[in-house]
Amino acid sequence: LIKLSEKEHKHQEPLPASSKIPYARLTDVLERIEQEPGRLKMTAMVSEFFLEVLEQFPGPEKITHVVYLFINRLGPDYEPDLELGLGETLLIKAISECYGRGVSKIKEDYKEVGDLGLVAQKSRSAQPTMFKPAPLDVDLVFENLTKIARATGKDSQARKIGIIKQMLTSCNLKSNEAKFLIRSLEGKLRIGLAEKTVLVGLAQALLNFENKSSKRILPETLSKTEDIMREAFSLIPNYEIIIKSALTYGVANLLEHCHLTPGVPLKPMLAKPTKSIGEVLDRFQGEEFTCEYKYDGERAQVHLLESGEVRVYSRNSEDMSERYPDLLSIVKDFVRVTDETKDKPKSMILDCEAVAWDREAKKILPFQVLSTRKRKDVNEKDIKVHICLFAFDVLCYNGESFITRSFGERRKCLMENFTPMEGKFQYATSKDSSDLNELQAFLDQSVKDSCEGLMVKMLHGPESFYEPSKRSRNWLKLKKDYLAGVGDSLDLVVVGAYVGKGKRTGSYGGFLLAAYNDDTGEYETTCKIGTGFSDEDLVLLYNKLKPSEIAQPKPFYVYDTKNSNSAPDVWLEPTTVFEILIADLSLSPIYKAAHSEYGKGVSLRFPRFIRTREDKGIEDATTSTQISEFYERQANVTK
Ligand code: ATP
Repeated sequence: LIKLSEKEHKHQEPLPASSKIPYARLTDVLERIEQEPGRLKMTAMVSEFFLEVLEQFPGPEKITHVVYLFINRLGPDYEPDLELGLGETLLIKAISECYGRGVSKIKEDYKEVGDLGLVAQKSRSAQPTMFKPAPLDVDLVFENLTKIARATGKDSQARKIGIIKQMLTSCNLKSNEAKFLIRSLEGKLRIGLAEKTVLVGLAQALLNFENKSSKRILPETLSKTEDIMREAFSLIPNYEIIIKSALTYGVANLLEHCHLTPGVPLKPMLAKPTKSIGEVLDRFQGEEFTCEYKYDGERAQVHLLESGEVRVYSRNSEDMSERYPDLLSIVKDFVRVTDETKDKPKSMILDCEAVAWDREAKKILPFQVLSTRKRKDVNEKDIKVHICLFAFDVLCYNGESFITRSFGERRKCLMENFTPMEGKFQYATSKDSSDLNELQAFLDQSVKDSCEGLMVKMLHGPESFYEPSKRSRNWLKLKKDYLAGVGDSLDLVVVGAYVGKGKRTGSYGGFLLAAYNDDTGEYETTCKIGTGFSDEDLVLLYNKLKPSEIAQPKPFYVYDTKNSNSAPDVWLEPTTVFEILIADLSLSPIYKAAHSEYGKGVSLRFPRFIRTREDKGIEDATTSTQISEFYERQANVTK
């Protein structure tokens, strides 16, 4: 456990003995983290502050607010309308009105420093204050941010600006509250602190709090606690519930008290890519495994609550129930079960893929058809693109968690307790075989049946347990279209664009893409893409991305600063994820993905656009670690 030195502590004011945590105290820690390059020291700063908060306020409320402000969120992912990420125009207006400086002056400053938070901070310092407003505290900021995120309707802009101005006025002249407040409102703190560091910091703080510093904590105890915390969070991605349980039962006992709960989506298990059936057979040598069709639709985690309510969650834990009213009806139908030999489930969590379905031809339709469905204000009566739900796993059944049962058992539970209904609810087609020819034929058949290829899964023993949030080698994906390339498509964040020439005049002609570094929270550039777009794609993308043009690259973009030729014509807010296909990967002097690993970054060669990934947030993009894995696998193959 890293301890901070006296010097590192020195300028840290102790928390005042009051019922409030000054917001300035929290932003002071954020500032120190921003200046700190070392990950271990960063974690120590997080955990020491959390511990201090717990010592002064031993209940769950304050620490939960602090944790959320550290990760810049206001609640769990599955709770709707809690997103920050306000546009620059609105924030510039609020800063201008609050501090009495012209919009053009603020824009000029912004162009110069590239950080609206800093501009607000400077504007604050320049404004003399006649009276001393009440200082901001953590609960008040949290409450106000929530009000802003939830504000809807006609006059919501004005209300948001009103609240922001009020808070900006209360920012202390000497602190950096204004800077972090604006960054929070923009949706990104950009201090290089990833959520997984906050989770580890929280585990350390809770452990120290329980021990009251009486005993030295052994490194193995600490690392076990961190594992427990990570596992608990992937089962229940909700800090409020986890903190409450840890404070009530002890952090070591968290897993006994963090049960899978219908209504709370768990982080889905993910698969590793493979390039050939041979690679699959090498991996599963001597083990029993099964192959399933890999359906090309949208992941749907289907929850039946004890109350009878049905909810559906996306791959990144968003509540999709409103978007899929027809899916809710299907679930209610198959749960009602016509087959009298089966009991009606009281509660459950199923892992499924929702796929577009042609009711007349009785067959699967491609993903492109599914993506034409409306995403908002969906009325079941108007739905033209119907769906069929293909179920491949049971994670919870009648209140009991199934994730530590073998996949064989889970599949048995699925098949014994649910009756398929053609075109509405079906099991994933599967084949248990380790014969190369049979598998080849099954792969070919999956493609004929409009699937992307196969998912290969371990069948028995602990390796076949469901591993929430993990990209596991016990699940392999074999995508037919990508066997010739690196084995998979990549999902990258659009950070810049190039002005179109010739036929593409008037829209963007190409884009700069970046991978997500989930250790640092930065976006590392990895290729420029201009191929694979139809004229219609380019128009749609221009209209979608134009409003997110920004004057400066974000401070958390990692790109080639030495060579101005490689900069895009315009920088963009990180909002959109492209799925792309590539031929191979190489080290490059210009691009930066995984640069900390190789000194040089990895670039992607011959990238081709497939589609935008509406179901992926920017932090769900392909990570720099995955890029280096692709690179190393390719290096091994060509060696
Ligand atoms: P990843 O989830 O690996 O980051 P991704 O979201 O692009 O990438 P894919 O790489 O295409 O997804 O593969 C995994 C996805 O395949 C799952 O998230 C799920 O939505 C889908 N899928 C389709 N059929 C199955 C199946 N039989 N078992 C598991 N997942 C399946």
